[in-house]
Amino acid sequence: MTLLETTPASPVPAAAPTGRPNLAGMTRGEIAGALREFGLPEHEIRMRTNQLWHWIYFRGARDFTEMLNISKRLRATLADAFELRLPEIIEEQLSVDGTRKWLLRLAPVGPQDKGAEIECVYIPESDRGTLCVSSQVGCTLTCSFCHTGTQRLVRNLTTAEIVGQLLVARQRLGDFPGRERPVDGLVPDGEGLRAVSNIVFMGMGEPLYNLEHVAPAIETMADGDGLSLSKRRITVSTSGVAPQIERLGAETGAMLAISLHAVRDDIRNTLVPLNKKYPIRELLQACRDYPGASNARRITFEYVMLKGVNDSPAEARELVRLLKGVPAKINLIPFNPWPGAPYECSDWETIERFSDIVFNAGYASPVRTPRGRDILAACGQLKSETEKLRARARLASG
Ligand code: SAH
Ligand code: SF4
Repeated sequence: MTLLETTPASPVPAAAPTGRPNLAGMTRGEIAGALREFGLPEHEIRMRTNQLWHWIYFRGARDFTEMLNISKRLRATLADAFELRLPEIIEEQLSVDGTRKWLLRLAPVGPQDKGAEIECVYIPESDRGTLCVSSQVGCTLTCSFCHTGTQRLVRNLTTAEIVGQLLVARQRLGDFPGRERPVDGLVPDGEGLRAVSNIVFMGMGEPLYNLEHVAPAIETMADGDGLSLSKRRITVSTSGVAPQIERLGAETGAMLAISLHAVRDDIRNTLVPLNKKYPIRELLQACRDYPGASNARRITFEYVMLKGVNDSPAEARELVRLLKGVPAKINLIPFNPWPGAPYECSDWETIERFSDIVFNAGYASPVRTPRGRDILAACGQLKSETEKLRARARLASG
């Protein structure tokens, strides 16, 4: 596959940081709190919060001047006191299969900070559009097959930075009422389908190490008067932070995905070192106890196919045995290579043999088609392009 297009200039430029509170990405409670602090009379706060919520999240307003049911005077006052700032798209790559990867720069969080960068991927299919969002800059965990895990700089994203990824995507894809969709790419083609209908927390970072911000971000994304994503279409993937799994279910009602990748603790210890803390047994118990899991709301088990490491027929049979009694879907992920990775992807015949065993045990279409491979947008590859870009920029500047 070849790289179709790279756009260095930002199609959605961010407003320059002003130091004013940024309303874009705030929860309802935060907007109300900001208005209160600003000094708006108490009896107006609820109504103004609802108005701002509608404009920011339902209509996708980028400017206070668009908010026509608010008086001109108050619009000007709000514009002086607050801002509507989104993460900035500093590069967009469009794959031949329609997948888009955005390199986003976040607003600086302190005087020394130039603004951290994260990646976010959009995957269009005929009946849905999935946005893969990041929950952290980098990741503190060091899964041996994952490129994100080799990144040094790590911090938790704020709620606004997580919600901001969806806002940026909807802006760029014209996914708000009355906005034009881009002509150069694919979006779902059914009548009334939104460009972004699904969210997966499978970008950079471990979401259950940042539940404090992930949970309110999910609430904001799922709010029916705003971004309106169905919670059944929001999936949080974890490498296995067992003690946080119940909290995720109780606080968000999101769908759960587990990065299992091995059926024995000794192998999983090397692939997902967190397994030494929370071994397979404990992890699966947390899954059995996951609030709201049922045959209609299954837990997805992700299993990356690594040649000669975890891909034998015996392991496929053990996988099926382990998951007995758990309402589960199985997702086999062909390993996505990155420069210097210590693994190879299993051969196609091996994946097929493994998948047949899983299929015959009653799990439908278990192999995930890699998307956006030409732009290194697939699972576990988010990082490399950022570093390559920097290297390229260094070369270009002499
Ligand atoms: N930290 C969370 C979510 C982000 S990773 C987690 O680990 O679940 C999203 C998925 O991509 C996980 O299942 C992860 O194991 C998988 N992944 C990471 N690197 C990969 C690679 N190089 N090839 C295929 N899948 C990979
Ligand atoms: Fe972190 Fe997930 Fe990558 Fe592991 S697979 S290093 S938890 S992002």
